[in-house]
Amino acid sequence: MLGICVTCGVQYAEAAPERCPVCEDPRQYVPQSGQAWTTLDALRSCHANAIRAEGELTGIGTEPRFAIGQRALLVPTGDGNVLWDCITLLDDETAAEVERRGGLRAIAISHPHYYSSMVEWAHRFDCPVLLHEDDRQWVMRPDDSVRFWSGEAHEPAEGLTLLRLGGHFAGGTVLHREGMLLSGDIVQVIPDRSHVAFMYSYPNLIPLPVETVLDMAARLEPYAFEAIYGAWWGTVIPADGATIVRRSANRYVQAVQGNLP
Ligand SMILES: [Zn+2]
Ligand SMILES: [Zn+2]
Repeated sequence: MLGICVTCGVQYAEAAPERCPVCEDPRQYVPQSGQAWTTLDALRSCHANAIRAEGELTGIGTEPRFAIGQRALLVPTGDGNVLWDCITLLDDETAAEVERRGGLRAIAISHPHYYSSMVEWAHRFDCPVLLHEDDRQWVMRPDDSVRFWSGEAHEPAEGLTLLRLGGHFAGGTVLHREGMLLSGDIVQVIPDRSHVAFMYSYPNLIPLPVETVLDMAARLEPYAFEAIYGAWWGTVIPADGATIVRRSANRYVQAVQGNLP
């Protein structure tokens, strides 16, 4: 069976990879205990997925928490669902539940930390995985189901727009739908729900240049949205999202310029 990195949850094309470039990158880390690998079968034997309402959408997340711990979101369209971001564990119960809700027409992922076992999901639901081409080098299991989009925006279905904001990763992507922004950790929902955050690395606490953060906020200016759905269970800002992004970019600039009390 193909190897899965225990720290980032990314599935590789080989049974026993020697290294995990995703974790060796400055934006992730190899734990003090060293690199470790698992398989989908091993994961299925000791984990299960919770599928439940998250705001106006449906979340899918693994329990107990595995790797980075993100949960995916099912985004309904007029014709099937788009899975926003992805998780490593896919089992029969999860697949049946997703089928019951209309299956998947596409998978779209914010950035390489959530590439997880995207190819397993794509095969199971016979759908493409949409990734920004600027992050092509981070695909550890190449497959025909992986389709790269380029430029600054892409519409995977009517009413949905993928926007490349960059920042955390060159191809860092968010998903806009009427009234909501699904932000992965490209725009990070933080405990202070009157703000969001922008970072190059969250676990390693490496900030982004001021120009990059201002550019990310400017790219979102044309889009109206109230809710912001972050990458983990419960990380949902229910209202005022566009204003909060604007305010947060300004706070970021104030902070790095030494103007916060
Ligand atoms: Zn890894
Ligand atoms: Zn990340």
